[in-house]
Amino acid sequence: MIQINTLTYSYPTSPRPALQDVTLHVAAGEFVLIAGESGSGKSTLLRCLNGLVPHFSGGTIGGTVRVNGLDPIALGVTALSRHVGFVLQTPEAQAVLDTVEADIAFGLENAAIPPAEMAARVDEVMALLGLTALRDRQLSTLSGGERQRVAIASALALRPQILALDEPTSQLDPQAAADLLDALVQLNKELGLTIVLVEHRLERVLPYVTRVVWMENGRLLLDAPPREAMSIAPQAPPLQQLGRRLGWSPLPLTVREARKRFGDELGDLRSEVRRTLQARRTLMKVEGVTFGYDKPLLRDVCFTVGEGEAVAVLGSNGSGKSTLLRCLIGLLKVEAGVVEINGRLTTTLETADICREAAYLPQN
Ligand code: ADP
Ligand code: MG
Repeated sequence: MIQINTLTYSYPTSPRPALQDVTLHVAAGEFVLIAGESGSGKSTLLRCLNGLVPHFSGGTIGGTVRVNGLDPIALGVTALSRHVGFVLQTPEAQAVLDTVEADIAFGLENAAIPPAEMAARVDEVMALLGLTALRDRQLSTLSGGERQRVAIASALALRPQILALDEPTSQLDPQAAADLLDALVQLNKELGLTIVLVEHRLERVLPYVTRVVWMENGRLLLDAPPREAMSIAPQAPPLQQLGRRLGWSPLPLTVREARKRFGDELGDLRSEVRRTLQARRTLMKVEGVTFGYDKPLLRDVCFTVGEGEAVAVLGSNGSGKSTLLRCLIGLLKVEAGVVEINGRLTTTLETADICREAAYLPQN
């Protein structure tokens, strides 16, 4: 489906090539993850698939690209749009019209698809991506995850064989990101769609992809199935890092798999971690913290933090993470409950006093 041979490319403004000697062959039905540090060439490589590079970017290009037998360098973006559906990081940048249905139909109108077929295709992709109930909604009223699904539906309405996505989940909260990736897995499995995905949340996609391609400084550093890739990649998610240190082989791709194969070792580790944590002095104690703006938000939040611990507060957008932190350092006064930092009750202290013990960095 994709044949890239010794591809080298430089942007007109930069002396250093953004892609160097990249060779990559992708079969129909594969689900390829492109990973690598920021600036390593992932987006540039993706843009070569539909001719955005070099047709919109200019610059000098060498080597060959074939996508479904077509040459994007010679043919350009319009000719490739029926073969490669493109989805970007920001849904706002891709929407053209203001309702869901109109936006999805827009690309089909441009491609001069007859009205009857157009209606059928729009219905089909809306059903596929769970958008049917949102058909008449204004795009501006949709959540980020819903807007990304509209962007994917718009791309799929042209019935491309390849879907190329550039960090489509980076603006989404964890749940919306997980839902979007589930939708991609379904498209890959059920329609046999070839998917090329740039994504930095590796742990989410590793169980589903057939290959991982790692970019570094414009070069293809490695190209391997996910387990092999994670055993040698410059970075890996925590689970695979743990597996690498403990010499697990083959590396597990999910926690469930790790439990099944290495459950005893994990049990030992867990009790060791628990012993270490229990031995720590409690530095922060949060008990029954309750707070709301116009309606209740934090309800009876309780936890302790030991000396030297690093604690991640997780939750979907609007679940109260930032509010909790603001309560802890006294920027918001709790309605009920207590916060103790280093043995001192802080609920009655001023923020300035609390911040002598606990430094606070806000989101913006
Ligand atoms: P990634 O997607 O992996 O973050 P990019 O493909 O965006 O990497 O960038 C690869 C290299 O090309 C970087 O050195 C970047 O600075 C450069 N680059 C990207 N876009 C442009 C552009 N429009 N003009 C000039 N240089 C660019
Ligand atoms: Mg990029």
